[in-house]
Amino acid sequence: MSDCIFCKIASGEMKSKIVYSDDDVVAFEDISPQAPNHFVVIPREHVEAVADIPADKRDRVVSGVFGAVSRLATEKGLSDKGYRVVLNQGSDAGQVVPHLHFHLLSGRGFSWPPG
Ligand code: AMP
Ligand code: ZN
Repeated sequence: MSDCIFCKIASGEMKSKIVYSDDDVVAFEDISPQAPNHFVVIPREHVEAVADIPADKRDRVVSGVFGAVSRLATEKGLSDKGYRVVLNQGSDAGQVVPHLHFHLLSGRGFSWPPG
């Protein structure tokens, strides 16, 4: 999608600090980190909502995203004390960027239930 900032990051048109990349998924440092480690993991293909992922691509998206989370957790040493993965879907959940993405947060404690 031409005016989507995450599509621009995925294509390299917009600068970001990429920490993981493969054919299906890109992960980069969040520009406004909410934890000492805060990465955003996105499918390369533009999809706004979970329900918009074509059924025949769902397995590949989920596998790609959690493959990236697993790699980052190991490489960045996030597994010792743990981490949180967050998907904000829609306005009530606080979604601002309308390109499906997962937040990978680590390096501090997180409350439960979330606010
Ligand atoms: P959400 O509220 O779930 O839509 O989260 C969007 C996230 O994208 C926020 O945490 C922003 O700080 C982050 N963000 C927005 N623009 C950029 C950017 N250009 N580079 C990195 N992260 C960004
Ligand atoms: Zn997009």
